[in-house]
Amino acid sequence: MSQKSLSKPAKTLGILGGGQLGRMSAMAAARLGIKTHIFCPETDSPASHVSAQTFVATYDDKDALKAFAKSVDVISYEFENIPVETVHYLKKFKPVYPDETLLGIAQHRWKEKQFLNDIGIPTACWAKATCANDIEETLEEWGVSTCIIKTTRFGYDGKGQAKISKLEDIQPAWASLKTNEAIIEALVPFKYEISVIVARDLFGKVQSYVPVLNDHKNHILAKTTAPAPLAPELLKRATQMAEKLAKRVELVGVLGLELFVTKDGSIVANEIAPRAHNSGHWTIDACSVSQFENHVRCVCGLPVGKADRHSDAVMLNLIGDEIALVEKYLSKKDANIHLYGKPEVRAGRKMGHITLLK
Ligand code: AMP
Repeated sequence: MSQKSLSKPAKTLGILGGGQLGRMSAMAAARLGIKTHIFCPETDSPASHVSAQTFVATYDDKDALKAFAKSVDVISYEFENIPVETVHYLKKFKPVYPDETLLGIAQHRWKEKQFLNDIGIPTACWAKATCANDIEETLEEWGVSTCIIKTTRFGYDGKGQAKISKLEDIQPAWASLKTNEAIIEALVPFKYEISVIVARDLFGKVQSYVPVLNDHKNHILAKTTAPAPLAPELLKRATQMAEKLAKRVELVGVLGLELFVTKDGSIVANEIAPRAHNSGHWTIDACSVSQFENHVRCVCGLPVGKADRHSDAVMLNLIGDEIALVEKYLSKKDANIHLYGKPEVRAGRKMGHITLLK
C-alpha cells in the first residue's frame, strides 16, 4: 500500500509503545511544540506520563488503532516488536515512519543478516536452523565446535540466545530456545562493542552521532562512552556503514547499528535497532539536538538537526536495584539524572540513566 505523505510539519505525533524511548521522544517533541499521543497495551506507562493522550489497547485492536491514527498527524514507534500488520493498517490513515521495510528487517534475524550482507555490510558468518540437526551440520561445515544460536524474533538483552561450546551443548541449547526457527552465528572474537546512531529526514539529509563504546553487564547495556576511544579511521568506517544502511532503507527517523570491533580492526554488524537506541541517551545532555529530537524532527517533516556534540560523555544505565544509586548522583553537580517513572523495580529492568559530561 502506498504511504500517505506529510503535506506540512506534524503538530501531533503518535507513538506506538509506551516505554522510556517513547517518553524521551515525547519530551523532545514537547520542546518543539509538538504534542504526543501514545498507543500501548499497558496502563501507567512511562511515555503516558508525559504525553497529551494515551490509547490503551492491544496492537490488533483496529477500532482503537483507527481512533489513535485519526487523532495524530504522523505515527512512529519506539520498539521493534510492533506487528508489521499494525503498521500496514495505520498507513491507511496516516504516514508511519520509519516504514515497515526497516521494521520487517529488524524484526527477523535471517532477514536482518541477509539485508546487511546484500548491501555489503559484513556480519558474523551465519546460517539458518529449523532443528538441532542443522546446527550440527553447520558446525561441521564451518569446521568449528562453538557458535551462538539466537531465536529469529523477539530476542533482546541476551534473551532468546544460547552459546554452544561443544557438540553435547547442541540439544539442550536448541531446547532452551523453545523455537523452530533460529540463526546460527559464528562467535566473533570481538574486542569492543560499539554502536552508531544515524538520523535521516524526509528530504534525504543524513546526520550521524559519533560512534560510541558500549559495555554490558549480564547482556544488558551498562555504560556508554562517547566518543568510542578508538582510531578516527575506524570510527569513520563504522559511521559509513550506518549511513549506508540508513540510505538503503530510505530511513525516516533514527536507527541504531550495533557493531563488533575485532583486535585487527575489522568491523562486523550485529544488530539493527529501527528506533532511538539506549546507547544514544547521552545525546540529550551532550548535543544541542538529541537522538530523540532528531527522531521527532525527521518523522514530523522537519529538517534533521546537526548531530555534533558540545561535550564528550559517559552514560550509566540504572538497572533494577541500581536505581538506589540516584541518591549519590543527586548531590553531584555534573550528573544529569533521567528517571523513567516506572512504578515497580524489577531485576534487569531499565529504571533510568545518568549522563556525566566530560
Ligand atoms: P544480541 O542479542 O544479538 O545483541 O546479542 C547480545 C550480546 O551477545 C551481544 O551484545 C554480544 O556481547 C554477544 N554476542 C551476540 N552475537 C555474538 C557473536 N556472533 N559473537 C560473539 N558474541 C556475540
